[in-house]
Amino acid sequence: MLVAEVQRQLVDARVADRQTAYHCPACHAPVRLHRGRQVPPYFAHLPQATCGVSSEGETPEHLRGKRQLAAFFRPWGPATLERVLPTIHQRADVWIGHQAQPVAVEFQCSPLALEAVAQRTAGYRQLGVYPLWLLGHRYRRQRLNWRLIERFASWLPQWGLCLLFWDVRRACLVVRHHLRQDAVGRYWGGQRRVGNWTQFLLGATPPMARPVLDDHRLRLQWTRGLQRQAPQLRLIQEQLYLTGHHLAGFPDVLATTQSTAPVFGQGLLLWRIVMGAWLFRGRPEITVAEVRTLSRRAYELVGGHAHGVRFQADHVLTSAQDQLLADLVAGRYLALSAQGWRVRQAPRWFRDYADWLKNHEKIKF
Ligand SMILES: [Zn+2]
Repeated sequence: MLVAEVQRQLVDARVADRQTAYHCPACHAPVRLHRGRQVPPYFAHLPQATCGVSSEGETPEHLRGKRQLAAFFRPWGPATLERVLPTIHQRADVWIGHQAQPVAVEFQCSPLALEAVAQRTAGYRQLGVYPLWLLGHRYRRQRLNWRLIERFASWLPQWGLCLLFWDVRRACLVVRHHLRQDAVGRYWGGQRRVGNWTQFLLGATPPMARPVLDDHRLRLQWTRGLQRQAPQLRLIQEQLYLTGHHLAGFPDVLATTQSTAPVFGQGLLLWRIVMGAWLFRGRPEITVAEVRTLSRRAYELVGGHAHGVRFQADHVLTSAQDQLLADLVAGRYLALSAQGWRVRQAPRWFRDYADWLKNHEKIKF
């Protein structure tokens, strides 16, 4: 920690001396001043201490980062280091005494379990504090993935759904913003370095959409994936077998290049394919309730999620559902009826990739 207590006064490690007896501002146990060549000065509990207030093990990155973050956010409101919140047993790395709503900045450099993120976030919410997670180097090295998004992504007006990283070496913020998934589930988004508070407020425009999907390559890729017994594809293929279909022979009307919020597991396209198989299983009429049930089951099958720790994604599935039904009505496969939809004709599935190719070569050449 960077701040300790002496007779109820808080003292910064930078101005501390070795003669004075310092205590932890949270548990009041004695702490020791460390001053090395590599690491900026900091206080640490004695080895046997059991401090009830969670704090991250101090690394040079964490110690430097906290000071840099306090400086970065100072224009936002009075920023102080290591505010102890005894009622929720938490210590915010940087506290911004913003008038409207205080902000707790957490600089996360070490791994943290989902439950711990959820618990800390809930603690801050209980006090009406807005938690802002900044991630360190180990996280910045990672490719975008659901574990990262689920734990730490939040929605900010100028950045959309985003992840915030802090680069200690350059003392700047790195924002991965407007996070999305393409139709086959690949994560993408914009990235921007932000040197000061004003730039942070300005935000960034969403990046250009990814190029269209290569339908041909995808069907081939899936065929090979199934030959290799790729476990996630197999689960989906097993469901399709029950309706007599092959994944790589999906009807053209189900193809899409739309991106989604980054909660769609293996992606919107696989969800549409499963739905396309299930909706035409022989019933002449499909009710609204049936569509909703199938839609949720298909979403589970492709590994979709309803929320992260800091954001909800309920609407994502509803809009995917609306779009699919609209496409099927426009393609004259379904017609609107009093209860929901009436089946006019099932879309044509190809036997497999080879069959699809044969039929599409005729069109191409
Ligand atoms: Zn303590």
